[in-house]
Amino acid sequence: MKIYPVEAGNFKLDGGAMFGVVPKSLWQKTNPADADNLIDIAARCLLVETSGKLILVDTGMGNKQSDKFFSYYKRWGNHTLEKSITSLGFGLNDITDVFLTHLHFDHVGGATISNKSTSLIEPLFNQAIYWTNKLHWEWATRPNAREKASFLSENLLPLQQSGQLDFLDIAAKNYSMDTQLPFSICFIDGHTEKQMLPILQYQNKTIVFMGDLLPTAGHIPLPYIMGYDTRPLLTLNEKAEFLTKAADNNWYLFLEHDAHNEIITVEHTEKGVRLKNTYTFNELFNA
Ligand SMILES: [Zn+2]
Repeated sequence: MKIYPVEAGNFKLDGGAMFGVVPKSLWQKTNPADADNLIDIAARCLLVETSGKLILVDTGMGNKQSDKFFSYYKRWGNHTLEKSITSLGFGLNDITDVFLTHLHFDHVGGATISNKSTSLIEPLFNQAIYWTNKLHWEWATRPNAREKASFLSENLLPLQQSGQLDFLDIAAKNYSMDTQLPFSICFIDGHTEKQMLPILQYQNKTIVFMGDLLPTAGHIPLPYIMGYDTRPLLTLNEKAEFLTKAADNNWYLFLEHDAHNEIITVEHTEKGVRLKNTYTFNELFNA
């Protein structure tokens, strides 16, 4: 197996919304805000190459929305999903599977493009199966009013209409190996219904793709929970359980949304679980 980080394009989000009840005087120490109170956010996806499969985990927000839509998210830097994949030497049609942690626009938007000649929205990866799970799909396609702005039908329905959508088994035991993909899956319900986080064994390390359970290193203290989470008290419990396991077992946490820390480890301290080390992907795996 070989894995690669894939930067799908940075953006910015409101710092207050990213830290829920935590005051700015505290969160700005780790995640400094600009004059508009926005903080740096990455869309760092993961590519997993095994014999016979090339699996992309998440896709960023893509580029098919309107200029008005993107004006809210202040995209910055030069990364795009397509450029990042092709710069690794892969073609878009080499992708066999797209694993979607959940269907919020900043995770699934890059899975589809607007066809310039027909204006139809179609999958970017023609040969891929797109994986979600049934409970999350139902949650996303009949959204509650609070999450509605994150579940955009133009990101979801074209995947179904193309016949490329499939559902992973949610009856599978949490943290157990999936039968169709070369990694375990952790199901997390606090951010949204049945978010799925891959857990990989790679070069004698356990790597967890953190999705929106731990968007940035600044979110390690338990109450530092995004205002976007639908069930914050459940996130609190899920984070506590997860971070204890991560510190006990020295797991390497791959941060999807942290623009400045790619991979971190955590440790037990008197104050609870805290940051131990931060690594770039290259120093950890390509040194
Ligand atoms: Zn997100």
